[in-house]
Amino acid sequence: PGLEKVCIIGSGNWGSTIAKIIGNNVMKLDNLDKQVTMWVYEELIEGRKLTEIINTEHENVKYLPGIRLPANVKAVPDILDAARDASTLVFVTPHQFIGGLCKSLKGNIRPDCKAISLVKGVHFDTAEITLISDLISQELGIQVCTLSGANIASEIAREEFSETTIGFKDAKNGELFKQLFHTPYFRVNLVQDVHGVELCGALKNIVAIAAGLIDGMGLGSNTKAAVIRIGLMEMKLFAEAFLDGVCDKTFFDSCGVGDIMTTCYGGRNRRVAEAFAKTGKSFDELEKEMLNGQKLQGTITSFEVHQFLSARNRCHEFPLFDRVYKICYEGLPVKDIIAEF
Ligand code: NAD
Ligand code: 13P
Repeated sequence: PGLEKVCIIGSGNWGSTIAKIIGNNVMKLDNLDKQVTMWVYEELIEGRKLTEIINTEHENVKYLPGIRLPANVKAVPDILDAARDASTLVFVTPHQFIGGLCKSLKGNIRPDCKAISLVKGVHFDTAEITLISDLISQELGIQVCTLSGANIASEIAREEFSETTIGFKDAKNGELFKQLFHTPYFRVNLVQDVHGVELCGALKNIVAIAAGLIDGMGLGSNTKAAVIRIGLMEMKLFAEAFLDGVCDKTFFDSCGVGDIMTTCYGGRNRRVAEAFAKTGKSFDELEKEMLNGQKLQGTITSFEVHQFLSARNRCHEFPLFDRVYKICYEGLPVKDIIAEF
């Protein structure tokens, strides 16, 4: 068999961090092509194309400033050019863009392709939720693994030790992706639970919003711990109610309890929700003001999950998710996040 060739789809804060890891790892692996393509949503930075900046200066100056990207990672603005020769696709964009990207890729990838999704979110359409891994799999007819964990991108870009979880179905793909991502500072755990890993990553963003609201109200560690615990239980309940085959032990891996901790202390969703509670500005305004083009996932995920639950009359079983939604979208006062639990 020929060499595996990797295309990274996405180049934000996490996408660029992952490009650093993959670019370095392929140089050490005999079964991988040394050239990696990275699809970049093109934009102009002070009159210059972002792809051109990345390819000449080897830095994503907008989404991951100060970190050198390996020279074998080539930024490509056209998704079909980026993915055409790839045998391995790494999806890492904000979740709201995945549906459109899959439509472009359909019929235009190698038939032997496999993929991994690092996306934290779900696809939502007419009151139905589809996991991103299933959406990619259905649209493109390929097998999809998932990767999620306690992974604040900037810390990993600085090579601070962390763990992550890869969910696989077929052990051969699990091993391939472990080779691609594992480094001494980024330890990969493998679990045979594609959906569990992914669902944890999507739902924890709602809990991160709740944690940020608690911080914004100036409440202490006990309250925050309570909200995190309740959030984790709602994540687990959601998995039990709506998905088959999610393993309990997945919730104890980096993608579960690990991620909920990091996200509720160090993440962007937490930070913006704290500012929301303090300033009363809208989430849209704060996202623009505070994140320089990076995207919040927790607010939209709370909306999507709410539409899904309300179509089934089950919102009351998920009071924390429900309140996050109502605070973000219906003007429920912030203090009600913890009223009468
Ligand atoms: P980001 O929020 O830093 O950046 C937003 C990206 O979206 C940019 O690359 C931008 O060019 C792109 N974009 C903007 N408009 C677009 C459009 N119309 N179509 C396609 N792309 C568009 O992105 P990120 O942090 O790399 O997040 C990607 C995924 O990874 C998310 O699901 C996120 O939850 C997850 N994640 C992020 C982190 C982190 O610390 N940043 C860690 C783990 C997982
Ligand atoms: P934020 O998107 O809230 O920064 O969370 C990043 C993350 O997923 C950490 O694991």
